[in-house]
Amino acid sequence: MTISIKTIQCLSDNYAYLIHNERIGETALIDAPEAGPIIAEIDSSGWNLDYILLTHHHFDHVDGVEKLRQNYGSKIIGNKNDRKRLPNLDIEVTEESRLVICGQEVSVLDVPGHTIGHIAFVFPGAAFTADSLMALGCGRVFEGTFPMMWNSLQKIATLPGDTMIYSGHEYTLSNGAFALTLETGNPELITRVEREKEQRNKDLPTVPSKLDLELRTNPFMRAGLPEMKTIIGSPDMSDEECFAEIRKRKDQF
Ligand code: ZN
Ligand code: FE
Repeated sequence: MTISIKTIQCLSDNYAYLIHNERIGETALIDAPEAGPIIAEIDSSGWNLDYILLTHHHFDHVDGVEKLRQNYGSKIIGNKNDRKRLPNLDIEVTEESRLVICGQEVSVLDVPGHTIGHIAFVFPGAAFTADSLMALGCGRVFEGTFPMMWNSLQKIATLPGDTMIYSGHEYTLSNGAFALTLETGNPELITRVEREKEQRNKDLPTVPSKLDLELRTNPFMRAGLPEMKTIIGSPDMSDEECFAEIRKRKDQF
């Protein structure tokens, strides 16, 4: 691994990620929930912040942008199709864009659902999914439709199984409690939830997680499986219907 990734806790339960390539001396940030903890981390490392990559326009992902831009002259990267709602962008991207950040080739995935303009950034071996795919969960569907969010998750599911998923929040324990109400007999889910509880008891993040593990334990990623459809309603449901029902139940949970 030629880059390092630091997890920075922000606000009450947000994560920002600081990516650094020591060899070329380049640093990038994924989302800027608030400036303070990010500045503290950058300054104690003696780095400059070259790029800020934004996943979507919600305040808890962009609120720190202007302060960071002023401090470091960072270039801001975000979805061209959502530029009106994002802070001023220096580099506008679409799914066709290919970026080189911290010496790594980075691609962009459209993952609408939580918001219409939500994107994910895919580095080799690491996907920054924010409020689309999350550890044991997924973001609430605020602007898109349930089929749209299901498609977004399916797109992420096609990445290599050992891809690490860096999501935007620490919601894992409540996601896990919900997941256990559905798949009461999934041994890997039970073990995972126990392990995540131990992590949180030590005040450690449960993020990132491996994509493979999400496919085996995250109910939202499992909405296409006959065994999940049987739990949710009937094996005849479409994948989208099963996903929608799981998402609605989680909203009530
Ligand atoms: Zn959000
Ligand atoms: Fe968020």
